[in-house]
Amino acid sequence: DEDALAAAAAELSGRGIDVVRLGYPDFIGTERGRDVLVANFARTLGDGVAFCRTVYGTSPMGDVVELGAGGLADGLPDVVAFPDLATLTDVPWEPGVAHCLADVFDPDGTPAPESPRQVLRQVLARFAELGMRPVVGPELEFYVLEPDAAGGWRRYGEAPGNVYVSGSKGDPENLLLRSLRSLADYGLDVVTANHEFCSGQFEINLWHSAALDAADRAFRFKTAVKELARREGKLATFMAKPFNDEGGSGFHLHFSTVDDDGRPLFDDPAGEYGLSKVAHAAIAGILAHAPALSALANPTVNSAKRFGPDTLAPWLIDWGLDNRSAMIRIPPERGRASRLELRQGDATANPYLVTAGLLAAAYLGIQDGLAAPAPLEGYGYDPAKAPKLPADLGASLDALEADTAFAELLGPRFVTAFLAYKRNELERFSRYVTDWEFREYAYHL
Ligand code: GLU
Ligand code: MG
Ligand code: MG
Repeated sequence: DEDALAAAAAELSGRGIDVVRLGYPDFIGTERGRDVLVANFARTLGDGVAFCRTVYGTSPMGDVVELGAGGLADGLPDVVAFPDLATLTDVPWEPGVAHCLADVFDPDGTPAPESPRQVLRQVLARFAELGMRPVVGPELEFYVLEPDAAGGWRRYGEAPGNVYVSGSKGDPENLLLRSLRSLADYGLDVVTANHEFCSGQFEINLWHSAALDAADRAFRFKTAVKELARREGKLATFMAKPFNDEGGSGFHLHFSTVDDDGRPLFDDPAGEYGLSKVAHAAIAGILAHAPALSALANPTVNSAKRFGPDTLAPWLIDWGLDNRSAMIRIPPERGRASRLELRQGDATANPYLVTAGLLAAAYLGIQDGLAAPAPLEGYGYDPAKAPKLPADLGASLDALEADTAFAELLGPRFVTAFLAYKRNELERFSRYVTDWEFREYAYHL
């Protein structure tokens, strides 16, 4: 309301903040929004910032995609973004600027049901009915690239074998180190940064917290990592599998749940493998709904290329005890730290949507009292051991559409719009002639 906005504006100007960068996630997790002068804060934001709903459906190449109701056929009516003032945070690398997440509403004042933040809230409301509060810890991998002489990009600090190497060998300009500090100053509760397995690939881990807060931080994290690199002329990319000769980038999610009093619900020293019935049911739900979940966890035509034997990305729909080749890994810690790690997602996933999808699948397992199959033993890339993940984005989207219980939890308006957006992407890709095709067919046939 206006009073809260005026109070926030006074507090911000008092500390020398003159611009608030208002941001909300679109479907693909890109931050959209506006820079709002604090001097105009109250009068600009009192009625919200209006934008066209098709902003959700603008592709990285600028295509405007028809999303169904409220789209081109309806004349592109407004949706309205309001700041979530609890999320106001100073941006340490941009003095005078504070960042604020926004929530998107329909013109009648109800939360827009396809807003990714709202999709997650809806799933969390279902957990709340069970007296459960999901806890999530995001881990994101990414490559850093720098300009090469030919006008393209080469991997920053390129050298083989740098996994877990610290210091200037893998991070010659201290970009990772400085990013870690900036991200911490930005309040993202980052805990560790390291060089990953592949050349020029890094990982930064965020401490676990309540699921919406974790998704907010992961969303801000991706924007911030790209921003910090771009300011130095580099490109931080979360693309799932950017190179043929190096592995992909994962978006692992550690997940457990506590009750309303904060007691951990995944731990049970007397339960099988020291895990509670709730944990087993959550695992079973994630396995049962993994094909539909892949539409959110692996949302691009490039995503499926990250999967494959011996990649440390999963290939099969399975779970295992401290087994990094499984789709769901149960880390060895127990007690309060009892949790699962979903390794399915790649770094292109929208943090809100992959979190909502993970929770929806777990919720269905808990609600339906599903029992998990036996865990994977040993090598996890033998297709005789478990079903495969969907082979491509088209199969994932079909699985999302077919999984009505899962789609219902995410909300029909969201699912319809998301499928429309992603099927447009698929259609554009299917018509595009790639350099692989030219090499394969132009000379010999
Ligand atoms: N890069 C791997 C993936 O795509 C994960 C490697 C790791 O376990 O850190 O999921
Ligand atoms: Mg990693
Ligand atoms: Mg991990």
